[in-house]
Amino acid sequence: MKKLISLFAISLFMTFNVVAQYDQGPNDYKGDYKGTGTKAAGYVNNKESVVTDDINDLKNQAGVFQTDSAQLMTTLTAGVPLGRWNEGLMFEGIAPMDHMVSAANWYPNTEDLLEEEIRIIFMGSSPMIRPGQANTSILIQFGNGKNLIFDIGEGSVANFVGAGIALNEINDVFLTHLHVDHYGALPYVYMFGAWNGRWNEPLRITGPSGSEPKYGTAHMVEGMKMMTEWHRDAFDVFPIGRGWEIEVNEFDFTDDGGVIYDQDGIQVIHWQQAHCKDGASAYRVEYKGMSVVFSGDGRPNKLTAKYGKDADVLITEMQVEVVSISSQVYGVPAVLSRYTIDTHHNPAYAAGKLYDDANPRLAMATHTFDDLYANNEMVAEVREHYNGPFHFGFDGVVVNVTKDKIWVRDGQLPDYPNATPPQAGSQVSANDGMIVPVPRKKREDMQNQYIRDMQYKPEEYYPEGYQPELMPVWPSDKPIFVPTEKIPSSMKRRRTDFDSDGNFIKSRDYKLDNTENK
Ligand SMILES: [Zn+2]
Ligand SMILES: [Zn+2]
Repeated sequence: MKKLISLFAISLFMTFNVVAQYDQGPNDYKGDYKGTGTKAAGYVNNKESVVTDDINDLKNQAGVFQTDSAQLMTTLTAGVPLGRWNEGLMFEGIAPMDHMVSAANWYPNTEDLLEEEIRIIFMGSSPMIRPGQANTSILIQFGNGKNLIFDIGEGSVANFVGAGIALNEINDVFLTHLHVDHYGALPYVYMFGAWNGRWNEPLRITGPSGSEPKYGTAHMVEGMKMMTEWHRDAFDVFPIGRGWEIEVNEFDFTDDGGVIYDQDGIQVIHWQQAHCKDGASAYRVEYKGMSVVFSGDGRPNKLTAKYGKDADVLITEMQVEVVSISSQVYGVPAVLSRYTIDTHHNPAYAAGKLYDDANPRLAMATHTFDDLYANNEMVAEVREHYNGPFHFGFDGVVVNVTKDKIWVRDGQLPDYPNATPPQAGSQVSANDGMIVPVPRKKREDMQNQYIRDMQYKPEEYYPEGYQPELMPVWPSDKPIFVPTEKIPSSMKRRRTDFDSDGNFIKSRDYKLDNTENK
């Protein structure tokens, strides 16, 4: 025990001594500081109040403890005075933010965003679905509480759930194009988002037109409604409300640079992508002087260099060049790989050329296979033309962006997460409470008596004496209104929607929902 106390005393003592050295020396730490604002580890201001008599006694035991300030400073900083110079191949401004819980990992629901901050979470990153990689989807979260989603490929919902996003929060989806690996999760979100809380607002989908109406986003949505006819009718025994409504914003794909979204301080523009067929689009999102560009799928083109110029984060798809090897690894014949890339996709060499022209603060590649043989090869190919900051955006990768820093982390998404309860923020902003609608249908409207008669009776399977109160009929024939203060706290968990007392914060209102629902 005594040894432990001594060690504690030594560590405190060292900290104070080094601080004193920094404050007094000619090489004063703060004066010489050239970094981006991070305080030195171990910097303590209130030394007088913390130093106890015990520690002073230890300090006075000459010869027992190290007192040479140069040695203490070396021990504390490991020879690298923090923030004084860039180390290795790291770049200016590529650094963790002070408010992060961990610089190594992002954990769902543990960090608020600053007002002037953007968080990007890769929810899917592969053209082919496999257990570790869903189809492409990118969630962009803004410091004002808004979320926008860019593509929503098959399997990506698992990562949304893992990231603690409630099903009724999966809304405002922008589609780059109508390849199914970019919208395959829509039917699920449409059905189950409405079931679990999207009761008073439509699903909002923005996407390009096509060369003919049947190739446009609106037509795809009509097809999805047709495809889900049985499911929607079946789920009408639940309080769906407006959940089956879809608000489609189909924009003219030829209108390069056109603004397709301008709300709550967020603006989105689009331009054409060279992805074999007309209608493929790229997006640029602006928020408080910061920008994220997502090119979707396609050949690198000069429109992306133009509209993506000087973006904070530029995200493209990427394909490894070594087709003779990659075709063996992922099981696609070489001729098919080569032809597919050369008509549709973005070789890493070309991506590097585009990054160099567009000059982002951080370039990222997604929609590519996270494979050991390929990743370093792709980096080498990118480096042919581009020497700036570069990362892969694979599933669960989280990027925080502020005006002076960008940092990329692995998000720790659990393998077996459960759904986050529906979040009431948009309902509260629209209705000053939560409205639970009346189901439009009853079971007997859609099922014949014969099959219900064939069911086992509850008394045949519940133990004798156990008689749970069953609910075979929805308990209310009128909508139920739940005042804000009575909404369960699990349904108002977003700290951007509610203050610590559970009151709705009007300044973070979702204006989009307000205008539609009133
Ligand atoms: Zn794709
Ligand atoms: Zn595609």
